[in-house]
Amino acid sequence: MLDKKILKNLVILGTGGTIAGAANSASDNVGYLAAQVGVESLIASLPGLSERLGGTGVCTEQVRQLDSKDMDWADLAAIAVRAHDCLARPDVMGLVITHGTDTLEETAFFLSQVLPADLLAIKPVILTCAMRPVTSMTPDGPQNLLDAVTLTVSGAGSGVLVVCAGNIHAARDVQKVHPYRLNAFDSGDAGPLGCIEEGEVRWQHDCAFVNRRSADWDMDLLRETAWPRVEVVMNHVGASGAIVRSLCARSTVGDSEVSGLVVAGTGNGTLHHALELALLEVQKQGVRVVLSTRCAYGQVIPSGLSALPHANGLSPVKARIALTLDILASRAKHG
Ligand code: ASP
Repeated sequence: MLDKKILKNLVILGTGGTIAGAANSASDNVGYLAAQVGVESLIASLPGLSERLGGTGVCTEQVRQLDSKDMDWADLAAIAVRAHDCLARPDVMGLVITHGTDTLEETAFFLSQVLPADLLAIKPVILTCAMRPVTSMTPDGPQNLLDAVTLTVSGAGSGVLVVCAGNIHAARDVQKVHPYRLNAFDSGDAGPLGCIEEGEVRWQHDCAFVNRRSADWDMDLLRETAWPRVEVVMNHVGASGAIVRSLCARSTVGDSEVSGLVVAGTGNGTLHHALELALLEVQKQGVRVVLSTRCAYGQVIPSGLSALPHANGLSPVKARIALTLDILASRAKHG
């Protein structure tokens, strides 16, 4: 058991994104390059930081410097390994991770699945971001970063959380829903867990540590270089089985074999009969298929009509991460 009295440092891991982005003009909030400014500089120029830290030490580390649209498994694994090593230090009370908004929900969910539950229960991992670059005349990154620090230092958070535009979201529920506005994230039916107002954290729901895996993840598996290939396909007007058959054709040269498919169904996971037929065919051949919905709110309610397992309320991109981790773990177990 860790002694809470010696938990006195906050670690901020930088990974890039718009929060570290720069444009040529202060009036340009879209034509910028992400991942241009180091995390140390973001912190050095943050107004009000020392008051919010209130004696807590802070150290920074640049783990990646990327536009998050370009994140790969190796990047997620590297972030998870650094997060794990930092959380394991007795002096560290929690982590803040600066990240691009585009795939932030995927990294947050991934970390919630692989980091040890006992550490996350007492040391939160807070991801934060920005919709405007550092050079903007009114950047949102500094406030988001300050809020993330405030939440970590408050000692009230647990699990993997996302802070953006004054809202606190759970990794499982959060989704980027807007390409431009500052409040770009939403937690669907669940709603945000709470908010941060002028340095005060106000919870709307219990900061329960939701949806972790039943068994602790073996961090050694993150050293994997050949991650299982899991693709997302979608139902839509005129959907056919062609995309599924070509993805799963064994003869694809240069690409790894598809091990799993997540299908974003329409509505309550409904599928065009031709797409469903193709999915059932490849399922019989050993490809793992999971059914999600392309609806932004709600989740697939099992009807007994589909032979495909559903995604337990996960969005298609998070279902893809869960399925990839499942395949990876079962490969390691069964060889
Ligand atoms: N493309 C950027 C990224 O995800 C967008 C952002 O951070 O808002 O890194």
